[in-house]
Amino acid sequence: MVEVRKSTIVDAPIERVWAMLRDFNGHDQWHPAVSVSMIEESAPADMIGAVRDFKLADGSRIREQLLSLSDHDHSFQYCILEVPLPLMGYVANVKLRAVTDGNQTFWEWNSRFSPPKSREKELIKTVGDDIYEVGFRAIKQALRGQVKVATFPKPNTETLGTEANAHAIFMDRYGGPEVLQYRAITVPKPNTDEVRIRQRFVGVNYIDIYTRTGYFNLVTPPGILGMEAVGVIEIVGGGVRGFHTGDRVAYACVPPGAYTSLRNMKTDYLVRLPDFLSDELAAASLLKGITASFLLHEVYAVKSGDVVLAHAAAGGVGLLLCQWAKALGATVIGTTSSDEKAERLRKIGVDHVINYSREDFASVALEITKGKGVDVVYDAVGKDTFESSLRALRPRGTLISFGQASGDIGAYEIGKLANKSITLSRPNYGHYTDSTEAVNLHAQRFFDQLRMGNIIVDSPAKLSLSDAHTAHTKIASRETVGSIVLWVEQLT
Ligand code: NDP
Repeated sequence: MVEVRKSTIVDAPIERVWAMLRDFNGHDQWHPAVSVSMIEESAPADMIGAVRDFKLADGSRIREQLLSLSDHDHSFQYCILEVPLPLMGYVANVKLRAVTDGNQTFWEWNSRFSPPKSREKELIKTVGDDIYEVGFRAIKQALRGQVKVATFPKPNTETLGTEANAHAIFMDRYGGPEVLQYRAITVPKPNTDEVRIRQRFVGVNYIDIYTRTGYFNLVTPPGILGMEAVGVIEIVGGGVRGFHTGDRVAYACVPPGAYTSLRNMKTDYLVRLPDFLSDELAAASLLKGITASFLLHEVYAVKSGDVVLAHAAAGGVGLLLCQWAKALGATVIGTTSSDEKAERLRKIGVDHVINYSREDFASVALEITKGKGVDVVYDAVGKDTFESSLRALRPRGTLISFGQASGDIGAYEIGKLANKSITLSRPNYGHYTDSTEAVNLHAQRFFDQLRMGNIIVDSPAKLSLSDAHTAHTKIASRETVGSIVLWVEQLT
C-alpha cells in the first residue's frame, strides 16, 4: 500500500471552494483531465454510494464511488471502481480547513492504493502531479473566473438505431457440430434499456458444446448459442446509463446468443475492458477467468500451502486456474492427456504434471503428498475422473465437480463420501454471476491478476465465426491447448 498526500492554500473562503468540490458530478467543470462526468442511475450527486462515470480527456474512463461526504467537516471520501491503471484498492480523501483570517482555505487531497511494485514510482507521480496538483491549479484558475470549457459534449444517449443486417451461427436442432449453420439474420432496433454491440471476437467454451447437444437446455432450437464476446458499442438505448457509443466491452453470461456479428444486450453484465487486454485475449479468457475466480475464492478458498489437483489443466479454464492457484501460494498438480499439453503446463510453473491417459493420477497424487492426499480437486472431466478424484483427496478434502467433458457422472451414493468426510460441490456459473456486482467483482479480480503478471493468457487459436463447427470439433477431440476464439467478419 502506498500513500499520496498533497496540499495547497487556495486564495478564497472555504465555502466558495467547498461549493465547487462537494459537487461529485461537477469535476468535469474544472479538472482538465475530466471531459465528461455523469452519475450512474441518475442518483443525486451527494448520495453516499453514487457512482460517477468520468470520460477523460484522453478518451479513457474511470468510475468512482462516493463513500462519505460531510458538509460540516468540508470533506468527502471516494474510491475507484474502474480505471485503466493498476491503482488497486484506491481510496481518496478531500478535506478543507479555513485558514485563520477566513479568506484562505487549506485543501488536502490524499489517497492510498496498492500499485504493482514495478510501477509504484510512476503511479505515485501520476496521482500526485497529474491529478492532485493539476486539480489544485485548475480550481484556483476557476475561482479567478478562468472557467474551464469542457472538451467533449455530454454523450448522446438517444436510441438512434434501426434494424440491421448481421450474420450468426444458428442451431435448428440439437446434435453434432454439423447443426451449426452460418446464416444472415436481421437484428432489431435495440430497446431503450439495451446497447447494440458490433462484435469483434466470440469466445468458445465447453458449455457451448453442452448447449448444442441439449445436455444443458440453455437454448431451445431454433436459436443462437454462445455466452461470451467482445466488441464495441455502436448504439445506446435512451434508458441506458454508464455506457456510451465507442465503449469497448465484453460479456460472459446468459442468455446465450453470442455467436453473431451484431447483438443487442442489456448492460447489467457488460464489462468494460482494461486497455492492456486485447479484444482477442479478452474473448479467450473472460468467462474462464471469472470461473477461476469463483472456484478459487468462493467455492473453496485456496490458501498458501494447499495442495491443489486440477484436471484438464491445459484447457481454457485449466491454464488460468493453475496459474492463479500458484499465485495464491498453492502447490499445483495438473493432469492432461498429451505430452505437448504437459510441456505447456511445466512452462507455466505447474509443480507436478501427470499424463492421466498413461498414469493413475490418484496414485501419483498420493505419492506426491506422501500418502496424505490433496486438499482440493478441481474436476471438470467428470465421468472418467470422478472416482479417482475422491481417492486422491485427503480426509476432509474438497471435490469440486464443475464439468463433465468426458460424460455425465450419473447417480452417486453419497454415503461413500463419509469414508473420508469429503465435501462435494457442484457449482453452476450462473449462480456465481447473477448480479452486476458479482460479475464485476470476479472480472476485476481476474484483471488484477493479469495486471500483476500472475496469469498469462495464451494467444488463442483463431477461426472465423462461420467456422464455429470446426471450433466445436477441435475442443471435443481434445486437440486444443488454451482457448479458441471466433473472429467476426464484418460483412454488413
Ligand atoms: P477445455 O479447453 O478445458 O476443454 C475441455 C478439456 O477437457 C479438453 O481439452 C480435455 O483436456 C479434457 N477432457 C477430458 N476428457 C475429455 C473427453 N472425453 N472429451 C473431451 N475433452 C476431455 O474447455 P473449457 O475451458 O471451456 O472448460 C473446461 C471445463 O470447465 C468444462 O468441463 C466446462 O464445462 C467447465 N466449466 C464449468 C463452469 C461451471 O460454472 N461449472 C464454468 C466454465 C467451465 P485433456 O486432453 O488435457 O484431458
